[in-house]
Amino acid sequence: QREQAAYTEQHPGSRALFEEATNLFGRVPMTWMNMWSGGFPLYLDRATGNRVTDVDGHTYVDFALGDTGAMAGHSPAPMVAAVQRRAGELGGITTMLPTADAQWVGAELERRFGMPLWSFTLSATDANRWAIRLARLATGKPKVLVFAYCYHGSVDEAFALPGPEGKAQSRPGNVAPPVDLDLTTRVATWNDLASVEAALAHGDVAAILTEPALTNIGIVLPDDGFLAGLRELATTHGALLMIDETHTLSAGWGGATREWGLEPDIFVIGKSIGGGIPCGAYGISRDFAAAVTRHTDAGDADIVDVGGVGGTLAGNALSTAAMRATLGEVLTEEAFAHMTELATAFTAGVQATLDELDVPWSISQLGARAEYRFTRPAPRTGEESAAAADDDLDAYLHLAMCNRGILMTPFHNMALMCPETSRADVDLHTQTFREVVGALFA
Ligand code: PLP
Repeated sequence: QREQAAYTEQHPGSRALFEEATNLFGRVPMTWMNMWSGGFPLYLDRATGNRVTDVDGHTYVDFALGDTGAMAGHSPAPMVAAVQRRAGELGGITTMLPTADAQWVGAELERRFGMPLWSFTLSATDANRWAIRLARLATGKPKVLVFAYCYHGSVDEAFALPGPEGKAQSRPGNVAPPVDLDLTTRVATWNDLASVEAALAHGDVAAILTEPALTNIGIVLPDDGFLAGLRELATTHGALLMIDETHTLSAGWGGATREWGLEPDIFVIGKSIGGGIPCGAYGISRDFAAAVTRHTDAGDADIVDVGGVGGTLAGNALSTAAMRATLGEVLTEEAFAHMTELATAFTAGVQATLDELDVPWSISQLGARAEYRFTRPAPRTGEESAAAADDDLDAYLHLAMCNRGILMTPFHNMALMCPETSRADVDLHTQTFREVVGALFA
């Protein structure tokens, strides 16, 4: 309550704007902004690197980084220059003509993630939806297999939990989609290959859609052999393996796919690779492309029948320019090395506090990102991780950190590093963590 009072007192400007906006559908960009722990979100004035300033003039060290959308930092200079040039000097943001930038980005994505063929979208949600559509087209099967407590954007198929008799049921709460998930989805348990096999045995799964580690219910890492098992089961049962690396790019320059040697049929990414400009992409293998290719009547030339997949603004020249600059000059191998080193230091700092205070929490790291969870040992499944959720603790930590100048996401106890995060920022965070957790366990 003390933290709540301090938050309210310190942010009259944000509060006034939020009251004016009313709530839910009242002018906040996303409904989750209503979940902000202090009752109203901070309103942004400006942001650069890993610093964010609100309309009341407070500046924060940002470890939320737009829920990974700003993994490249806020407004990185090469991205800004490229976008200014395209929007100004060159013009032509939306022409529905491809650009040389798109060509470059496709080649770079292949270099990092291995998939040869790429299409661009406006978001990771879009990329997932389009890729699911292609997977259905290629296999003729209706369902997507997802893991309990996964998140893949606003993709109806994925808001599912295991229900009775192997059927998928809607995940309760405000994410429940108004569709019959039994027609579209099968659900398995993370790190449980038997549950995957049981779901695939029905023979109606077009694709397994997964992150290489669950990242939206804390970080739940894969057991040794789990991802290889998924690959094998997908092949055996004629399903495609669709890897969504929107968040797990934090694992390194080539994401977890490169770090861990994964072999997806479809690869999805978005958010951070545009340096903050809306973007998304999916990559497919040649075999998969062949499965959705039809021969034209006119001759030998093949066309890819993409089943009506597209979008007027998809891969527009602004977003391809942004991706080229961000991938080429900001999210480099050196940047990932720096970010991972800092996340390792953060993890050690948090662990030291947990050990010292004998707090039964755990922390998991995936490259440039680490997240703590209110249970020990670290959860192995989405179900275990969900059971460890504690909204009151989340709210306290989020507000207490915010009141001390550290910005986190309301629904993740996550610290993400960007190229401009410094060791001093990490030390400030771990010291503040020691202070606010110490106050709880004193
Ligand atoms: N995939 C994963 C793994 C995500 O975590 C998210 C968003 O958090 C998305 C896809 C969707 O991204 P966007 O909201 O930018 O469409």
